[in-house]
Amino acid sequence: MEVAIGHGLHALPWREPRPGAHAARAAAFYVWSQVEGGHGCPVSMTYAALPALRNQPELAARWEPLMTSLEYDPGLRPPSDKRGVLFGMAMTESQGGSDVRANTTRADAVDAGGPGGEYFLTGHKWFCSAPMCDAFLVLAQAPGGLSCFMLPRTLDDGERNRFHIQRLKDKLGNRSNASAEILLDGDVGEDVDHQWLLAQQPAKRAAVGCMMRRLRHRLAHERRRADDAIEARVVDHVDDRPHPSPLLADHQRPRAVEQDLG
Ligand SMILES: Cc1cc2nc3c(=O)[nH]c(=O)nc-3n(C[C@H](O)[C@H](O)[C@H](O)COP(=O)(O)OP(=O)(O)OC[C@H]3O[C@@H](n4cnc5c(N)ncnc54)[C@H](O)[C@@H]3O)c2cc1C
Repeated sequence: MEVAIGHGLHALPWREPRPGAHAARAAAFYVWSQVEGGHGCPVSMTYAALPALRNQPELAARWEPLMTSLEYDPGLRPPSDKRGVLFGMAMTESQGGSDVRANTTRADAVDAGGPGGEYFLTGHKWFCSAPMCDAFLVLAQAPGGLSCFMLPRTLDDGERNRFHIQRLKDKLGNRSNASAEILLDGDVGEDVDHQWLLAQQPAKRAAVGCMMRRLRHRLAHERRRADDAIEARVVDHVDDRPHPSPLLADHQRPRAVEQDLG
């Protein structure tokens, strides 16, 4: 986490906006995520969350300097006590899955509501990775329809928000990054609007890095395995050209996805 945050993999294009900044960050993330996959989740979620926050300039003014800081500062404390923060996302519900329109988590306005207004959030999220993050983007049904809310884990006065971790998933795949089921029991969140779709691209890039890492593990394993039958190592049959072997098909897939993302 220190290396990833220290090198701005969560924030570089927001800190230094210029042509090619997102491509440069994607390339760095792609390389680094092959070292360890799990920690890429909060790093890429933090990167993806910032445009949504900018929808509400007051929220962005408070959180952006911490989201783009190059200091990894773990631990749940009020944002005023932190040198850097991480963001997660709590979108998925069991009855909805990909179809977030079916979400039933409710947002009730504290006062007048509306963009930037405070809401109480009540509901259940089936998948919420990196639950140790400082704040989350949460989808919930507001009176005007589905909207996106920013939910801090710790409130300004130091009290914990009512974000209950019900259990951690016993999931197949990376274990270094926890994924949780959470209960929102009247949490206080602020409406940031509908920009949450921006999260899709960084998530795909994280997946591409993980695919390459898996392939490299597999190649390393094959390098150690002599293939007695043909007196050659399997890896000697792998190259970069189109090839019918399943191993190579795996090799081509991450590159194809990356090219597709542009
Ligand atoms: C390791 C891991 C971490 C996760 N972390 C988080 C997190 O931090 N926050 C969070 O909110 N969620 C998280 N999720 C949940 C994830 O976002 C959902 O799994 C995803 O949205 C898909 O929902 P689902 O699993 O219910 O699949 P479903 O929605 O049931 O989809 C099943 C299949 O149907 C396809 N499908 C669905 N709808 C359509 C359609 N309209 N047209 C064509 N095909 C369709 C899908 O592509 C998929 O192949 C995580 C999931 C995993 C596995």
